[in-house]
Amino acid sequence: MKHLAILGGGPAGYVAASHAAAHGARVTLIDAKPLGGTCLHQGCIPTKVLVESCALLEKFKRADAFGLKISGELSADWASLKGRFTEIVSMLGDGIDQLMADRDVTCIRGYGRLLDRSTIGVNDQTVSPDAILICTGSRPKAQPSFNVDGAKIGTSDDLLNWSDLPASILIIGSGIIACEFACILDTLGVDVTIVASGARLMSSADKDVSVVLQRQMRKRGIKVIFNSRITSLSHGGSGVEAFCEEKIIATAERALVAVGREPNSRDIGLERAGISVNDNGDIVVDDLYRTDVPDIYAVGDVNGRSGLAHAASAQAKQAVDHALGRRYTMVRERAIPVAVFTNPEIGYVGRSEDEAKQDDLEYVVGKFDLRALGRAHALGEISGFVKVIVAKDTGHLLGLHAIGPHASEIVHEGALVIQKYGKAEGMRATVHAHPTIAEAVLEAVEDALGQATHKPLSNKRQANDVLQYS
Ligand SMILES: Cc1cc2nc3c(=O)[nH]c(=O)nc-3n(C[C@H](O)[C@H](O)[C@H](O)COP(=O)(O)OP(=O)(O)OC[C@H]3O[C@@H](n4cnc5c(N)ncnc54)[C@H](O)[C@@H]3O)c2cc1C
Repeated sequence: MKHLAILGGGPAGYVAASHAAAHGARVTLIDAKPLGGTCLHQGCIPTKVLVESCALLEKFKRADAFGLKISGELSADWASLKGRFTEIVSMLGDGIDQLMADRDVTCIRGYGRLLDRSTIGVNDQTVSPDAILICTGSRPKAQPSFNVDGAKIGTSDDLLNWSDLPASILIIGSGIIACEFACILDTLGVDVTIVASGARLMSSADKDVSVVLQRQMRKRGIKVIFNSRITSLSHGGSGVEAFCEEKIIATAERALVAVGREPNSRDIGLERAGISVNDNGDIVVDDLYRTDVPDIYAVGDVNGRSGLAHAASAQAKQAVDHALGRRYTMVRERAIPVAVFTNPEIGYVGRSEDEAKQDDLEYVVGKFDLRALGRAHALGEISGFVKVIVAKDTGHLLGLHAIGPHASEIVHEGALVIQKYGKAEGMRATVHAHPTIAEAVLEAVEDALGQATHKPLSNKRQANDVLQYS
């Protein structure tokens, strides 16, 4: 029986442990903290619990429009919101502990380090397995000039621990974490200003998605300052001042620093094992997630490939299968869906239009606005669209981009098709249930291939002028 030791028990490490043990390996899982990692304790779960409370609050505020009469004051109570996510996190954490017990995984609580190419030291013990998976994850990045003190200037970890919310906040950053917190805090009554270093929010998404997100944020009163790279933050007067070189460009009661994450690759003994990292500190791996040492793998945030929980878990399963000599399916990074829980929600997979251009691909775009869908009206959320990018010569789906209700769910249709190197024609032939938001996927595909059923006939193309793919 092969013995696998796993350093770190987040969605990479505990999923690796579960998968390996289920397939006959002896597994030792080492984590300095309760299992679940950033995802469970400071990331996906607490923030999405908050997102749901915010969605409910927003709906209640619009009850009249839904034909409902609600009397009395509606307000959010931060202590109770934190209580709810703490309870859910604890319950899910117990679930992971039970899963490990069910699979006879040996869990060691302690900070582990590689002692050499085949040994991990933890507490006063040493573990000498046949293979090692490094799954130590990442932590918030913050340069010293940001003066993060956890109280007035904090990272996402700090914010979730705050005992109250400020009246106003500066959010430094424009990526997923920055945008999700902007929407949460805005709904909870905080005056939000985002300071973005570039010209748009969510630069990893398709440009059209950013445009709708920015418009909806502006409508809600979230302010965004673009093209401003903050060089330092300082405690001034009653709040925080954000500087671009010598000039103060924004102030607020507190600041959230959300400028990215850095890998936990320091002080884990990599140098003793001869494992290299790149300039960001990410552990260098090949497509099998092997480090420079053949029996040592590095998966999840620590290798810098993705930064998403489900990608970490997928990489972990592939690495375990390879280490155990089982048949494995290579993770197709292009087919990993991204779900962003802003308001409106975002889901995308595959290439954006800009990426298709950069790759010199010939493509057609199909797009369908949600306002033409019955379900979007029933939900009272008509802003948004589904956009598909289809290879002109072959009809393969290259990308699917959605913004609007349920975008994080409908993106999986695109993920499946891209994973299977499938064609848009197959999506068009697939009957989509009515009334659903997924109908926008069908219509967007129809639009790309010729004529969407519920879209006016375009001047450019007629219904019989469709692209034909076998
Ligand atoms: C605010 C926020 C929201 C997020 N929302 C989402 C989301 O909605 N969807 C999504 O897909 N992703 C989300 N993420 C990203 C997601 O949390 C990470 O991609 C995911 O947790 C990475 O998993 P991992 O197992 O690689 O690392 P981690 O989850 O960071 O786990 C690493 C584990 O290793 C342990 N560890 C580290 N060093 C050692 C050591 N030397 N010895 C022992 N143990 C060690 C740590 O204690 C930790 O438990 C979010 C992140 C944040 C911060």
